[in-house]
Amino acid sequence: MKNELKFRVIFEHFVDAICVIRNGVNIFVNKSFLDMLGYENEEELIGRDVIELITPEFRDATINYKRNGDKGEDIPLVFESKALTKDERVIDVEVRVSTYEEDEKEYIIAIVRNITEEKMEDKALRESEELFRKLFENAAVGVGLISIEGYPIKINAAVTSMLGYTEKEMKSMKFTEYTYEEDQNKDWAIFKELIDGKIPFYSHEKRYVHKDGHIIWSRTAVSMIKGSNGKPQHIIAMVQDITKSKYAEEELIKAKNAAEAASRAKSQFLANMSHEIRTPMNGIIGMMDLTLMTQLTAEQRGYLEIAKTSTHSLLRVLNDILDYSKIEAGKMELEQLPFDLKNVMNEVLDLFHINAKQKNLYMKLKIDETVPKIIIGDYIRVRQVLSNLIGNAIKFTMQGGIEVSVTTEEFSHEDIKLKFQVADTGIGIPKDKMNKLFKSFSQVDDSNTREYGGTGLGLAICEKLVGMMDGEIWVESEEGVGSNFYFTSVFGLEEGHNEGNRKLEEKWGAKGTENSENRKVLVVEDDKVSSKLTTILLEKMGFSVTAVVDGRAAVEILKKEPFHLILLDMNLPYVDGYTIASMLRSEKQHINNRTPIIAITAYALKGDREKCLDAGMNEYISKPINTEEFIKKIIELLIVKKQGYQKMQ
Ligand code: ADP
Repeated sequence: MKNELKFRVIFEHFVDAICVIRNGVNIFVNKSFLDMLGYENEEELIGRDVIELITPEFRDATINYKRNGDKGEDIPLVFESKALTKDERVIDVEVRVSTYEEDEKEYIIAIVRNITEEKMEDKALRESEELFRKLFENAAVGVGLISIEGYPIKINAAVTSMLGYTEKEMKSMKFTEYTYEEDQNKDWAIFKELIDGKIPFYSHEKRYVHKDGHIIWSRTAVSMIKGSNGKPQHIIAMVQDITKSKYAEEELIKAKNAAEAASRAKSQFLANMSHEIRTPMNGIIGMMDLTLMTQLTAEQRGYLEIAKTSTHSLLRVLNDILDYSKIEAGKMELEQLPFDLKNVMNEVLDLFHINAKQKNLYMKLKIDETVPKIIIGDYIRVRQVLSNLIGNAIKFTMQGGIEVSVTTEEFSHEDIKLKFQVADTGIGIPKDKMNKLFKSFSQVDDSNTREYGGTGLGLAICEKLVGMMDGEIWVESEEGVGSNFYFTSVFGLEEGHNEGNRKLEEKWGAKGTENSENRKVLVVEDDKVSSKLTTILLEKMGFSVTAVVDGRAAVEILKKEPFHLILLDMNLPYVDGYTIASMLRSEKQHINNRTPIIAITAYALKGDREKCLDAGMNEYISKPINTEEFIKKIIELLIVKKQGYQKMQ
């Protein structure tokens, strides 16, 4: 090389490692080259085959590079290779070559850069990228990178297999295109909120449509990637296919609805059945009551009394079934009226007085002095629970007696929790049977049914009623010693107990049927037996009765004549009871528009009472008519509350 000295000076000062090769042999190496490969003197390398400095697996490629050059193909100016250091370490190098010819001799000048560290960083980066790629590709949930216009940029295999489109197909579709039509607007709106920065992310259930048309339910979580300028750049969506669980959930809901419907149908059937049975019972009991009012021989009276007791037992079973089905169907509603607890408890004890006396059992009542006289609640339901417990106590006690007591459990300004106890000295209940007691149709011993009778519904009804009164029911018992049934219930308290008390006493204390003569009552009832029964009862009370059998006749007569009281059956031919009541209460009506109306219905379901009161009626009596209750309600309406009604001309 003519300019060898000049080159030498330049190359020596080069930071990059340089070697000059002729015929494959090093003829020059600079200091950096020596340093890079761990040599000290250039003599160690000058004259050596350059190929020896390259790791064996790269030697062919290097020779080929030369051959390719010979074939006139483009010689790559830059290539990567691996070099061997003096101590036989391998380093990654980037080689830049240029050729130079002089005196028909070819020189190769190679500038070599150690890129080992760069390579390692690259490798780490590649590995990490690879890992993320695999993670993305193999994720069990669908993952998609979406443009802010809503087009997929990258989606994984889970998405394509979930929706049935290829990645290419999907990339040309906005995500709304494969979203179920009904979900599209809502979905796009929330996506816009995310893009507009109103929300940081969202997660919702949505439906996609598979390429073949079927619906895919998904739980989709969507978040945003912002660019360095803080503006939205990409959207990440994670999509989980929940179709199976959704359908399972739907099936479950369907099954639940079907079960509820079946239960409602069952309850409705039971209610209808008991209605059908209660209607003729109305006639039987009523007629027996009427017959008992006539002149009878002692023998006849005795038979009739037995028949009456049997019908009452039948009615009790019927009422149990009706109550149970009403509670089951959620159609039992509680009243919230002030009542005198002592009166109610005495009434219940009176009911069982004869039974207890027959069995020679004592009956005691203890009301703690902290218990207020008047409380607000549903006295009918309290009476029902107490009757059940006292009835059972008498049924299962042969000697000793029954003690009923009530104490205050806790109270506030507005309400009070009372604890009732019915203790007997009867046969007791085995420990292992106690938990079954409050379940429907359960009796401690099946032989009980034969010996003592009963449906096994009593305590189940009590538990449900007590639950409705925010209380609990439980039992403590010892076989052969006796049982203690307890229940708690929450009642309202009213201001001015004395006033409430006075009113109540007025109500219950009102006796006699004075002033009933010359009072006119209209009975609207299509059932002949019921109509006859009410007519006779009212006539015995001294009223003058007009009876009609359908709604049309009722309307006609009411237009012409004033009445003191109307007894209105709800299910009437032509015009029903509700319509008649609403018509009478309308402003336009001048005759009878304030006459008290008592609704009579064989159905006693939740809402009936409200419907009657809404239609402007004043009272509500369900069939079969209880003679005592019937008389009480009429007295209450016509005598106690009469000030409230317009006087008739
Ligand atoms: P039923 O209407 O048949 O009396 P209940 O639900 O009222 O049904 O009572 C269920 C069963 O619990 C009874 O058949 C009886 O075995 C038992 N039981 C209830 N009260 C008492 C009691 N005071 N003493 C003993 N056993 C009782």
